[in-house]
Amino acid sequence: MTTAQKPIAFFDMKAQQNLIRADIDRRIATVLDSGRFVMGPEVEELEQKLAAYTGAAHCIGVSSGTDALQIAMMAEDIGPGDAVFLPAFTYTATAEVPLVLGATPVFVDVEESTFNIDLADLKRRVAAVRKEGKLRPRAVVGVDLYGRAADWPAILKLCEDEKMFALDDAAQAFGGALGNKRLGAWAHATACSFYPTKTLGCYGDGGAILTDDADRAELYRSLRQHGEGKSRYEVLRTGMNGRLDSMQAAVLLAKLPLLEGELAARDRVAQRYAAKLAGAVKTPATLPDGVHAWGIYSILLESAAARAKVQAAMQAQDVPSAIYYPRPLHKQPAYAAAHAQAAAGPLPVSEDLCERILCLPMHPYLDDAQVDRVAAAVRAGL
Ligand SMILES: *Cc1c(COP(=O)(O)O)cnc(C)c1O
Repeated sequence: MTTAQKPIAFFDMKAQQNLIRADIDRRIATVLDSGRFVMGPEVEELEQKLAAYTGAAHCIGVSSGTDALQIAMMAEDIGPGDAVFLPAFTYTATAEVPLVLGATPVFVDVEESTFNIDLADLKRRVAAVRKEGKLRPRAVVGVDLYGRAADWPAILKLCEDEKMFALDDAAQAFGGALGNKRLGAWAHATACSFYPTKTLGCYGDGGAILTDDADRAELYRSLRQHGEGKSRYEVLRTGMNGRLDSMQAAVLLAKLPLLEGELAARDRVAQRYAAKLAGAVKTPATLPDGVHAWGIYSILLESAAARAKVQAAMQAQDVPSAIYYPRPLHKQPAYAAAHAQAAAGPLPVSEDLCERILCLPMHPYLDDAQVDRVAAAVRAGL
């Protein structure tokens, strides 16, 4: 590596900040001057803009993606005796929330080609839970892993047939779309995360829930504010502190105008990786009918040993990599007992992916030369 080469960041929040720093400073100064630090006017403005952008009728700003999942499940009264179906190959928060509420996560395998929930396995496990008769099937959490929309028409159809709640964990996919509808307008409710490294990220924690259902939207607003009713001092239900703060909303308002261009840039990076790595490793399938948000870019190696070799070669050339995820959720110490409770069949694809997946730098500000250096480093390790 020569000193003239630009270092490669896995995620890059600085390049973006440089473009809009003046606007961010101005918006934060407005919050400082107003003194309305939590749920100020910036939050309402953001909610309106995110609803308009996604096509969802309602947007409720909340404190994180995890809290978005929790508030959505609390509103359905999901708790002890309820089964919540979710992929075994995802971030921990997806499984944590049903457990926090006393419900049981039922882990479902994923498809190797899309990394998303496998409908055939989902149907098998719903039938198995009904047959076992210990838990009520209540909800499916579809995750749009790495930014790729799950098969929402099929998930919704199953949820309709089985009278279950369809919740989209779109934490890695804000801006993504399927057909002519963006994520947020598909499931009964959609949980978004604005953690800094997500496709739309703030400078702290933040999230939102999107829904078309006015009754659900009203419940979400109440639950994020301790279950309040019409007035602040009327408590109608047990809620939580799930509010979004004004500074984070201000940052998101400054970033939102960049999002479309950034999604296009992510797609260009993904296409260039696919071209440069063709024939060498398995690159992720594109999404022919929709917008892949490319929150994360992952390749599949032949084996765990091959992955270790590629990672070492990348490290030797100062190219960062990461493994999302090294362990399927049903094998996590915290979740193994829950897995044993219901429909506990094997999850071979999730287990296999954890051995072979490798994630490459992905952000909108990677230039062609950097993408080529990453691809060359991967090839050097094969
Ligand atoms: C990041 C993430 C979450 C949690 O979002 P936070 O804002 O960090 O609470 C949930 N699910 C998935 C799939 C995620 O990637």
